[in-house]
Amino acid sequence: MENPHALPPTFVQRLRQARHIAVLTGAGISAESGIPTFREAQTGLWARYDPQELASPQALRRQPGLVWVWYTWRRGLVQQAQPNPGHLALAEMERLAPRFTLITQNVDGLHQRAGSQNVIELHGNIMRTVCAAHRHEVTQWEPAPEGEAPRCPQCGSVLRPDVVFFGESLPAEALQRATEAAQACDVMLVVGTSGVVYPAASLPGVAKDAGALVAEINPQPTPLSSLADIVLRQPAGKALPLLVQAMKRNFFAQDGF
Ligand code: NAD
Repeated sequence: MENPHALPPTFVQRLRQARHIAVLTGAGISAESGIPTFREAQTGLWARYDPQELASPQALRRQPGLVWVWYTWRRGLVQQAQPNPGHLALAEMERLAPRFTLITQNVDGLHQRAGSQNVIELHGNIMRTVCAAHRHEVTQWEPAPEGEAPRCPQCGSVLRPDVVFFGESLPAEALQRATEAAQACDVMLVVGTSGVVYPAASLPGVAKDAGALVAEINPQPTPLSSLADIVLRQPAGKALPLLVQAMKRNFFAQDGF
């Protein structure tokens, strides 16, 4: 699909008429910025490690040095990355919609760097570092001996990224706000998520049960595909700019979509 006229007309109409658009994004939207999804991260240097095992409290206890090296590598990727057309389109969509909530599972901060304002980070942000014991933010620390993680200069506990590890609870307030947005939206776009990480993966069902139209944008099928009313099998960097184009036509041209 190369132009907005090829989009399903009912979908375009629902988007244009929506009073509240909610979007749930996952690692796939940042893939086009060069940040690998967890599936892609299992190639190259880190091929023999399972990201789900590295991003866990157990791994931090058992292999703090390894977890730290992995997160340092991922932070480097995030620092080098730039928002792509998918991120930029969502920032623009926010300016076109009466109400807009962007719920992300991503920890890379690229939505905010693209200009999105109302962003709910369900899984934290990799660029913040906190002490494992008290969760206070730490900005400077001494390098650690090999095989260990650096320590908090105040309390001496291990430092960790301010992200939600597999098996940990999500920040309650963020999850509450995301659930409210899912209940209140007219349209939910589900972009670049494999739909297997809960509770984030339950939000499209919440939106659907509350009467929203749910659209999935993902080149691959996922467990969420069957509940989606609309499925666009395209990369986010292609599909989202088309959606914005389609919405803008209504604003400026009224050209009979
Ligand atoms: P995932 O890695 O499990 O799934 C990624 C999904 O994106 C897949 O379904 C894939 O088909 C799809 N995809 C790949 N390229 C795409 C593209 N160009 N456009 C649209 N979709 C595309 O990711 P997840 O569902 O987000 O769950 C994994 C967990 O790991 C989440 O917490 C996630 O945020 C985190 N994670 C975050 C980052 C990041 O912040 N950039 C990177 C890796 C993993």
